[in-house]
Amino acid sequence: MLKRISILCVALLLALFYSFTGHHKESVDFSRAERRMLHIPTAGLFGNSNYFTVTPSDLRRDGWCFPVEDGVVFTPEFRHEPVGWYIMSAEARHEVRAAMQGVVRLVRKTDLGRTVVILHPNGLETVYAHQAKTLVRSGDYVSAGQPVALAEADHGAVYTYFTMMVNGVPLSPSTLAREDGTLKPDWVRFTVDGGGTVRATLHRPGTVAERSPRFEWMKAQELVDLDRPLTAMERQHVGVATPGLFENTSVITIDLGRVGDWSYPLPGAKVISPYGGKRRNHTGTDLKTRPKDKIRAVFDGVVRFSGKYSAYGNMVVVRHANGLETCYSHNARNLVKAGDRVKAGEAIATVGRTGRATTEHCHFEVRVNGVPFNSDYVFDHASHTLRNDKLTFRRKANGTISIKTE
Ligand SMILES: [Zn+2]
Repeated sequence: MLKRISILCVALLLALFYSFTGHHKESVDFSRAERRMLHIPTAGLFGNSNYFTVTPSDLRRDGWCFPVEDGVVFTPEFRHEPVGWYIMSAEARHEVRAAMQGVVRLVRKTDLGRTVVILHPNGLETVYAHQAKTLVRSGDYVSAGQPVALAEADHGAVYTYFTMMVNGVPLSPSTLAREDGTLKPDWVRFTVDGGGTVRATLHRPGTVAERSPRFEWMKAQELVDLDRPLTAMERQHVGVATPGLFENTSVITIDLGRVGDWSYPLPGAKVISPYGGKRRNHTGTDLKTRPKDKIRAVFDGVVRFSGKYSAYGNMVVVRHANGLETCYSHNARNLVKAGDRVKAGEAIATVGRTGRATTEHCHFEVRVNGVPFNSDYVFDHASHTLRNDKLTFRRKANGTISIKTE
């Protein structure tokens, strides 16, 4: 059972202008046209095929939330934009929140009033219009729920005009969500034809979703240059500073929502000893599965150290572009060597009990600038998932590093 909804045609000129873009967008620096024009095709959206799909779980993964707290969708007498939602709240002014994580594309006055447009990793765009004040700039990364604008009384009415777009073409939020903010169970397939017309086909749950590659254009945060050759010091020692990381600043923020691919270090493992512990001197998290199970690199990176390291036994240290280093020790065998590039989820060692260990396990550490911190900031070890927080590290004059989570 499927229902077809035709949506408007994309301006041909723009389609021509952007149709050469056959690759994923590599940067969040939008072009002048992208920063100025409300309706403009999304570069790279149909880069690999003529369709893509959006499922409720794609929206949830990007943090879906209703853009106005306690807001109500209403139909005003002056309604002139038929596609989107008019949302009002009881307050004299209300904050308007990003419906999902993404990067702000446009912030300016349009026909709809002061407007913010956000492009999301799932391929959709959301539009927040009729604002009194905007709180973000083009190129800003925003997390789901982050305030992006303020709506204030204008001719006695306080409301936000909210809509979605696909490839610059308006799409009613009602296609994917209900007016109470809950998501519909349907999934949608968006197809573009040679003329640039986008067609949306709604599919009921239970039908098999054809999974298209996710629109992974949002550039992962890169604080560290992985191409920099490793020094002898870096190849021989574990707790060394990361070049470039705190070079011009004492504060860095690592956004776990923007680290790209990730893997739990030891799938199926249980924590047998947490960070800190009774004597407060345990610098890692002990993970247990079965001997010889494969230990996985948590993020993409470059192996900085691989070898025996005193009480740690066989140890692997991986440096990641996001600014973190991860360490895996007591390994039976290391499967990589210093200088190797690894992908998130790649097997880098096998579980053992080398060094000072009373049972076979992986002593897993997360470090920033060579200093270990609690891996609970990065992983929820109960559900084996990556947290979706921003971690702020402050380096003090004595070299110690404090950590705050947001
Ligand atoms: Zn340990």
